[in-house]
Amino acid sequence: MKDDSGQDRSRDKEIETFYNDYSRSGPLRKKLRRYFRSACWFVKMKLTPISKRCFDLILAFSLFVVLSPIIAIGFVISGFSFHHRLRIGKDCVSYNELSFKVDRARAGNLVGKLGLTNVPILINIIKGNMSFVGPRPMSPGEVDLKDKGMRRRHEVRPGLISLWWIRRRANINYGSELSVDLEYVDNHGLFTDIGILLRAIPAILLGNTAPSSDDKLTLLGIPIDNLTMDEAVDTILKWLKGPDSKQVCFVNADCANIAYKNASYLEILKNADLCLADGVGLKLAGKLLSRNIAQNVNGTDMFPILCERLSGTDVKLFLLGARAEVVQGVVDWISRNHQEVQVAGFHHGYFSPDDERKIIETIRESGAHLLLVAFGAPRQDVWISQHIGDLGTRVAIGVGGLFDFYSGRLPRAPLWMREIGFEWLYRMIQEPGRLWKRYLVGNCLFLFRVLKEKLSPGK
Ligand code: UDP
Repeated sequence: MKDDSGQDRSRDKEIETFYNDYSRSGPLRKKLRRYFRSACWFVKMKLTPISKRCFDLILAFSLFVVLSPIIAIGFVISGFSFHHRLRIGKDCVSYNELSFKVDRARAGNLVGKLGLTNVPILINIIKGNMSFVGPRPMSPGEVDLKDKGMRRRHEVRPGLISLWWIRRRANINYGSELSVDLEYVDNHGLFTDIGILLRAIPAILLGNTAPSSDDKLTLLGIPIDNLTMDEAVDTILKWLKGPDSKQVCFVNADCANIAYKNASYLEILKNADLCLADGVGLKLAGKLLSRNIAQNVNGTDMFPILCERLSGTDVKLFLLGARAEVVQGVVDWISRNHQEVQVAGFHHGYFSPDDERKIIETIRESGAHLLLVAFGAPRQDVWISQHIGDLGTRVAIGVGGLFDFYSGRLPRAPLWMREIGFEWLYRMIQEPGRLWKRYLVGNCLFLFRVLKEKLSPGK
């Protein structure tokens, strides 16, 4: 038996079928869609490897021609000789990766520093063992062939530059190497490779050549705890089990500019239990002052890692700051993505001084262990330092615009922009009226101050 609406629906379907079958555009549209799908498949499955290979060959031959005089001179003067290492290539077939062995007594360290020892890899690329871009070539000892992910990682040629290498150099690699390699395998192609090669340029210029061994370093008078993301998260988790109340601050170029003028804010940063280097500005400053920053440790990247680590624990979280709907959006994000994280409470950040006592009381009564305060710098850090004794929390962190991102109010810069250190530009484009001065004037001022510190006597 059909009811009225059932009859209506079946008649609609008949009409639609009739229209699709007999109208002039129906079958044509279907046919075009089919051709388009086949063309996409053809481009992806057939043209991608061909275009990628052509690109590799053209670039490798060109570089070979350009570099051949240097290689010839190297052989004659510096005592170059070939060296090979066994590596696992595409489809898990092994090959010999070539490099130059240099007689250091004759060639000095310059050859190694310029990367000329790797020039023979061009021969591997021409032979088809390797590509310019691809996962890092692994030695047989590193490859577990029983591992499905490992086998998938070797579906493409290993490369001279990998996506993982770029993320590591840009200090935004918080995942495993294998996960980043699989991301590359899923998306590889000529344009992906060109994008990665272009992103390699700032990664080479800005990236750390060697991880710093200094646990603490000072930039523009601010003591920075030179930790990696993992170390910072471990420290916070350790403090969450302890009896004390700790304050954590993220310091970016804007914060450093504010602290340069604002002595009481600088004092707060000096007294904070943890000051973490946030963003490309601090990294550049570290490089210019020869005080290498271990990793870009910012609140926005730390938040999901913290949530992951707090899942299923007794630790309770309180969120304070931003507009009411924004902070509510973050709570929703937590309940969608990390259901086992306990949110003890939340409150917006647009309260009057009269409400302050009541809010502090609410935080204390909620029994929260971890408090995230998002008022923007320096207000959030000043507020925490003023009230830390009354909050009853074990760790309080000033997190700036983090709530805006996780609530979905503002989209975060795409990964490629973060990889080249241009997240600030994306933020400026989002809110030009509010942020142009902070970034355009502020970044120049920050660099000027760093250079002044570098050139001042005794530094
Ligand atoms: N905010 C607030 N109360 C205020 C002023 C600002 O809660 O009185 C919030 C604002 O809604 C935003 C955050 O503080 O979510 C500041 O973000 P901003 O981008 O300035 O922080 P940054 O990450 O740049 O330090």
